[in-house]
Amino acid sequence: MSVFNREFTVHGVFGRQASASPSAVAISEAGTTYSYEDLESRSNRLARYLETRHVQVGDRVALLTERSADTIVAMLAILKAGAAFVPLDPAYPVSRLAGMLRDAAPVLVIGRASLAHDIADAAGDGFIDQALALAAAEQFSAEPLSERADAGNPAYVMYTSGSTGRPKGVVVPHRAIVRLVRGQSYARFAPDEVVLHLAPLAFDASTFEIWGALLNGARLAVVPGAQPSLDDIVAAISAYGVTTAWFTAGLFHLLVDQRLEGLRPLRQILTGGDVVSPIHVRRAQQALADCRFINGYGPTENTTFSCCHLIERDEVAPLPIGRPIAHSTAYVLDDELRPLPEGKKGQLCVGGEGLALGYLNAPEMTEEKFRFVPSVGERLYLTGDVVRRRPDGVYEFFGRADQQVKIDGKRIEIEEIETALRNEPDVADVAVVACGDAGAKRLIAFIKQAPQASREALIHTIGDRLRRALPAYMVPSGFRVVEALPLTANGKIDRTQLTTIPEDATSAATATPRAGLEEAVARIWGEVLDLSHVPRDVSFFELGGTSLRLMNVHARLPSLGRAPLPLVDLFDHPTVASLAARLEAGPVLGVRLEVEAAARAGSRQAALRRIREGRLGRAS
Ligand code: ADP
Repeated sequence: MSVFNREFTVHGVFGRQASASPSAVAISEAGTTYSYEDLESRSNRLARYLETRHVQVGDRVALLTERSADTIVAMLAILKAGAAFVPLDPAYPVSRLAGMLRDAAPVLVIGRASLAHDIADAAGDGFIDQALALAAAEQFSAEPLSERADAGNPAYVMYTSGSTGRPKGVVVPHRAIVRLVRGQSYARFAPDEVVLHLAPLAFDASTFEIWGALLNGARLAVVPGAQPSLDDIVAAISAYGVTTAWFTAGLFHLLVDQRLEGLRPLRQILTGGDVVSPIHVRRAQQALADCRFINGYGPTENTTFSCCHLIERDEVAPLPIGRPIAHSTAYVLDDELRPLPEGKKGQLCVGGEGLALGYLNAPEMTEEKFRFVPSVGERLYLTGDVVRRRPDGVYEFFGRADQQVKIDGKRIEIEEIETALRNEPDVADVAVVACGDAGAKRLIAFIKQAPQASREALIHTIGDRLRRALPAYMVPSGFRVVEALPLTANGKIDRTQLTTIPEDATSAATATPRAGLEEAVARIWGEVLDLSHVPRDVSFFELGGTSLRLMNVHARLPSLGRAPLPLVDLFDHPTVASLAARLEAGPVLGVRLEVEAAARAGSRQAALRRIREGRLGRAS
């Protein structure tokens, strides 16, 4: 097992790996490989260039980029210059990005100009295109820089949904990252591992992927593109011989349902970020005999993982979240922050070397959530999760004590959506509720309209207006106008009553899909979204669709016997009618694909029989 040293910086540990095995492959990306030495020298050059752009110790540099070797060079360079990186998702609405940039106040924004036009314009001199920065860095020395940071300095700031109505920046020090991937036993970290890099950079699962590989001499295999399909993921696993992967629970369930065979090369799968389904784990365990499955639990505020659990073969449901990982602590506390005995439910509070420094520019919120707890003598992060400790020290998870929800593994504070809605002049009051089962959970906003507002206009425009303020996954899929919000006896909004309010006629009036391909597409959507009626002219996203659910639809399209479409085409054709028309325009595939498609639904032999009997409709 590798050693954890609490005084080491991220780039310091990386530099040691680069000196120990300079020619080892650090990153595989789109057919190209980069050695540890390549990354070390390129990041040294870029760090020197950044210093000429006035990046200093303690500064922040924003990254508006996608997963790539170049982005990792930029991360290392920023750290070497003594600064912290702030990864931002280029797909976020401009107003949200602008808000995050105002809060983070970076000295420089490094981005792909093509992905971030408006931000680049707004940032002016403070923006530099990533490729240009790397080209400009070529003239600088590749010699190592003297150490500018220490292990307690911020290494990154990651934004997460905020209950005050604004996203909050979690400030994570070098030490916390090093603690996640060195001297740990919850997973195997070694130079012969190939780690999949799939997580979006603005989510902290990417911390595990990137530094789990690069601080251990292992190889990172980059899945390209902002929106990879299941086939892209399994293709990368196979092409690079990936051995270790993290999949958010929803994605893991989908992969097990749709592409289990494609996971065969993996030796360890970490999943979590949301409740993991034991049924899916069991199916995966049966199919992949040599693979270890680990339930990973933790908030961003304690650097990716707080507790992990190696799932046994005969484990009974529900799956526990395990024990604190090394150099980390966990306690079950009551409302007065006193420790509770074994078996009693209370709030999980976590501590140790993975703790974030706090929230950026929010000392009060930091004080509220990161507390020194005298009864245990430690500074802890109060997670808001309800857990119980078993006699063997393993923690069981029972959900949230507040209004935070996870939709497809993405953390959402309901209050943030409600604040965005309250900012709309047509809205007098609002309550947002998450309805439905895990895989098909959707957000519904119940709105009391302002006196002067038009109900029709409100219903038809509110979604678009919200999309300009919030990332797509936070925009409710349903908006219902109500006379008044039901209240409990003590005057709080009664959310349980809200879910029983029937849908109103305006939103229910929709056109039925036409016979043929439209009906077949609607059937797939109905299964994925858990809807009995799917209209032909309403957007997938308004019906509760998310990008993960669109991946699910995409994975099922081969059963229609049409030429495969890239996943992005599904974003461009978001209604049943438009997607069916797009499929219609493509060629009908031959018998081979039909056999494969049918074989997925049943056995290959049954498919051949159906073909012989002429029962496999070409475009059914
Ligand atoms: P991450 O990106 O690591 O999932 P977030 O900060 O986005 O972290 O979300 C943290 C919250 O997600 C936790 O407080 C908990 O409510 C939920 N969560 C994370 N992992 C698990 C898990 N394995 N099982 C159940 N819930 C989980």
